[in-house]
Parts: sequence; structure tokens; C-alpha cells
Amino acid sequence: MSVVPPSALGEPCVLLKLGEVVLKGRNRELFERQLQANIKAALKGFGVKVDVRQRHGVIAILLPEGTGVETADAIAERLTDVIGLVWVHRAWRVAKNPEAVTAAALELVAGRPEVERRATFAVRSRRRDKRFPLRSNELDRMVGGEINDKYGLPVRLKNPELTVNIEVDRDEVFVFTDGLPGQGGLPVGTSGRGLVLMSGGIDSPVAAYRMLRRGLQVDFLHFSGIPFTTSESIYKAYALVRALSKFQGNARLFVVPFGKAQQSLKASGADRLQVVAQRRLMLKTAEEVAHRLRRNVLVTGDSLGQVSSQTLQNITALDDAVELPILRPLIGMDKTEIMAEARRIGTLQISELPDEDCCTLLTPRRAETAAKIADLRQIEKRLDAEELAVQLADSIQEYKLDGTPAAVRRSPKAADAPNAADAAPAADDAPAVDAAPAAPAAV
Ligand code: ATP
Ligand code: MG
Repeated sequence: MSVVPPSALGEPCVLLKLGEVVLKGRNRELFERQLQANIKAALKGFGVKVDVRQRHGVIAILLPEGTGVETADAIAERLTDVIGLVWVHRAWRVAKNPEAVTAAALELVAGRPEVERRATFAVRSRRRDKRFPLRSNELDRMVGGEINDKYGLPVRLKNPELTVNIEVDRDEVFVFTDGLPGQGGLPVGTSGRGLVLMSGGIDSPVAAYRMLRRGLQVDFLHFSGIPFTTSESIYKAYALVRALSKFQGNARLFVVPFGKAQQSLKASGADRLQVVAQRRLMLKTAEEVAHRLRRNVLVTGDSLGQVSSQTLQNITALDDAVELPILRPLIGMDKTEIMAEARRIGTLQISELPDEDCCTLLTPRRAETAAKIADLRQIEKRLDAEELAVQLADSIQEYKLDGTPAAVRRSPKAADAPNAADAAPAADDAPAVDAAPAAPAAV
């Protein structure tokens, strides 16, 4: 038994541990199906035909025979971004008998740096198939004894430096050492569809990520100060949405040229209410766009008290602007916490690039911290804000994330849309983001 054949490790595969999905009751299957679809979508780019097998509490990704270790490692790495998984293990799939398992475990340990430094180790077995001839603790002892005999590593059950995991499944046994932490959360697409108001700042991408992790599938709406600002904020929104696309496929980015509407607000005497009035008009426009796209919730990156537009009274005034619910996942978070999360998910660097945000246009010297809803409504009445929101929604342009020009999908008033070329950022004034948006098209 201690003779290790060269193929003792069997086939490389990836074993996934599910998060909250396992707590689901009757509709668990629905969550599992969505998760499987998301996994397959995430792996499309690899050109490898994967076999996704749902087992009790885990998913096994079986790879075609002959798949190299490097490809298997890359697939595991990619799956750490798929929401709904708590652990991703690059495992080996071996025949379902104690001898094969022991041989695989020995070979797995052989290549480890812990052997040379005589690190402590433990074997942890688990049987999902109780028909296996050895019980978990018997398997632990048997494999542990062999590793100890062969390499002289001391066993330590509490906090070992190296853990050999053995999981006995229905058709095979999985053997692996470390794992990569996953994103946790619920599979994207299991909680409906929303529209994120995406600025170029730090908060909104984190808000989007937080909602993705609760299963919401999202599209993005960005308001640019065009024609009074450059296109930089569009580039940032585009780069941010692209950065988030590793967590969710098929997201769409829409951009509203908002500068002229901001000017109209100012002309109608918004004064100290300019910022809150702008935010209300953004929400009204977003609501109209959401209806057209069949999205039933809006998401913003508001955090209570962060800036003057986000006092409790102002947030209440924002809620009054629309009927759709507004989700604010960052409402109780500190800026430092939000920044740490932005760094972890890879959006901070992009958000910190300089840009001309539309919100800084026409900002009054002293902004109102306790906006009265009646005053805001009066400004909006003078302006016919509802009609303006419809016009703004008519003028949205989609920026395709895959680099192809956006298809014109629905264009009731396409003729009113500004010339795409006016808004399309020119390649040479692009900030240092990794991809430039394709030319937009009216939607
Ligand atoms: P930061 O606070 O880091 O600048 P932010 O995204 O939170 O970024 P705020 O000015 O605090 O920006 O705006 C609060 C929220 O309003 C944003 O999280 C976003 O949801 C929405 N918002 C603000 N400006 C825009 C914009 N130009 N386009 C789309 N949404 C916006
Ligand atoms: Mg903010």
C-alpha cells in the first residue's frame, strides 16, 4: 500500500462549499440551479467543458480527462469571485477505496514545503456516503498513520500547520489541502433585479457589490455633467462596472447626460437645495429607466451623515421623490469600512482616479442639511420635473461592456437622444483605466 503509483492523485477537480444556500428550505433547488448557471457562465472563457455536479452541501466541478493542473488552478481562482460560495478547494478526485485515498494523500503531502520543515499535520475526513467501509475517524487514523510513517511529520489535531482533507462522496473521494475563501452570500439572480445609481466615487460600487451578495442582479445608471464636464466620469463608471463584472455577468451600463438638467434646476431657484434637488431628479430619472428595464428597486451608496446631502432629513426627502424602494446597503457603514471593502473587491483604485463629477457642478456655497419636502416639490413643479425625468430617460445611452457597440434595443424617441459622438469619450483623453468604453447607442 505504501507504493505510490505515479497517478495516485487521480484527476484534478474543484470542490465548492456553499454558503447560505444550504440554509434554504423548500426552494433550495432554485438557489442551487441559479448558482450552477452562474458558475458555468463564469467558466465560459476557459473553453473547457466542465461537469457541474450538485452534491449534498457541495458542488463538484469535474474537468475533462487530461486537464492540466494550471488550468484547474485558474478555474478555482476564477470561482472565488462567484457569489454564493464560501470555500473553493482545488481537490483531487480519486477512486472510492481506502488504498487509493491513502496513496493520493501521501502523494499530495510529498510535494508540500511542510515536509521539509517537519510541520505538524492532521487528517480530517468526512463521509457524505455512509456506505464507505471506514468511518471518518478510522480513515483519519489510517491515512494519518501512513503520513506519519512515511514523512515523520508529527500529528497535531488542534491548529495543525498542514491539513489533509478527505471527503467521501457518492461516486468518488476528494482529497485536498488548502482552500481559497469565496465571496459568501446568495447567488446573483435569486433576489430579483435592481438598478444601481453609479457615481464615479468610492461608495456606489461597494453598494452594488453588497446587493450582488444578497442575490440582486443589477444594471447601472450613471449621470454625467456633460456637456459641462468632460467624459472622465463616464470612463470611471465604465471601469467600475467592468471591475464588478467578475461578480456578475451581463451587467449593463446606461449614462444620462445630466448637465443641462442641473442648470435648469439652478435656474428655477434651487439655491441651497441644489444638491438634494439634483439627487431627487436623478432618482426620478432612475425610476423611469427602471420601469422601462423592468427593474423593481433602486440602489444607492448613501451612508447616513457622510455628507450634507445624506443627513436623515435629506435622505427622507430623497425617498419622497420616487415610489420605488431605494436600497442603501452602506447606510450604517463608516467611510473607512467602505474603503477597505472597495480595496478588497478591486474598485478603490478606479474610484480614486480624478474626475469631474456632475454633483460638484453648480454646488451652492452652503448646502441645506435639512431640506423641506414641500420646498423641493415646489422647485420641481416650476420645472415640471416629472416630464424632465422622462426626457432624461429618453436620452440614456448604453455603453456595452464587451467592447461592441451597443445595440439599439428600444428607442421610442431615439431622434431626441443626443448625438452619440458628442458623449462618446475619445480614446486619447481616457484616464488610466484598463479598458475604454465602446461608442454608446441610444436605448
Ligand atoms: P463618494 O461618496 O465616494 O464620492 P458616492 O458614490 O457615494 O461616492 P455621493 O456624492 O456620496 O457619491 O452620492 C451618494 C449616492 O448618490 C451615490 O452612492 C450614488 O448612488 C448616487 N449618485 C451620486 N452621484 C451620482 C452620479 N453622478 N451618477 C449616478 N449616481 C450618483
Ligand atoms: Mg458617498
